[in-house]
Amino acid sequence: DIELANVSKSFGSVKVIDGLSLVVNSGELVVFLGPSGSGKSTLLRMIAGLETIDSGTLTIGGERSEHLAPGQRGVAMVFQNYALYPHMSVRENMAFGLQNIGMAGSEIERRVRDAARTLEMEELLERRPAQLSGGQRQRVAIGRAIVKEPKAFLFDEPLSNLDAALRVRTRVEIAELHQRIKVTMIYVTHDQTEAMTLADRIVVLNDRQIEQIGTPMEIYLRPASRFVAGFVGSPG
Ligand code: ATP
Ligand code: MG
Repeated sequence: DIELANVSKSFGSVKVIDGLSLVVNSGELVVFLGPSGSGKSTLLRMIAGLETIDSGTLTIGGERSEHLAPGQRGVAMVFQNYALYPHMSVRENMAFGLQNIGMAGSEIERRVRDAARTLEMEELLERRPAQLSGGQRQRVAIGRAIVKEPKAFLFDEPLSNLDAALRVRTRVEIAELHQRIKVTMIYVTHDQTEAMTLADRIVVLNDRQIEQIGTPMEIYLRPASRFVAGFVGSPG
């Protein structure tokens, strides 16, 4: 499980997360849904260890986060801008993080092959990012997370750079990946359709806090506030 208890975070004098508590259960797909600036990326980055927390506690798999370096957390983040290395092939992009931690070459080779098969991009392995479409680049970014065989995937608006058709297709691929490996996923978006179709539970964020937590149906049928009703487009 990933547990946040009374977590707060400020940048300078501006508080962006204020006393937030949440438990993400193992194997669950939780969507953080909220408007721009509501702190979604900041929360994800705190879980990944890319951002410190000011107060409160974060526990990952029963271990307090202050005892866990980013590389020890068993989480893999997928960014919206792909962040691929332009001078490396797809294969090298996927292998790079594993080489850095000193994994054996044969194991790296197996993981890259498995991830490429999962994402149906075996024939793209020798290409550079510039020779790929946006959707293919995004799959490489997901592949780079898969090869880490993480306990949790953290997706930060992974579809926002894709056109409408590719957004749907990649969303379905992420849903299928979750069905297949049943690993914890936290998925950040400001798109209510993505949230409604993907989530086991939705966490609606607004104004430094959680507005509501519930299944897509609960949130749609019983929005806890006007804000939630407006945001998910339900009759409220
Ligand atoms: P978006 O949907 O636009 O990506 P978000 O919900 O991911 O928004 P965050 O990126 O978490 O929002 O930002 C939350 C708030 O914290 C914003 O007001 C933002 O300006 C501020 N913020 C984020 N990172 C920093 C930083 N490194 N320094 C100062 N302020 C920051
Ligand atoms: Mg963001």
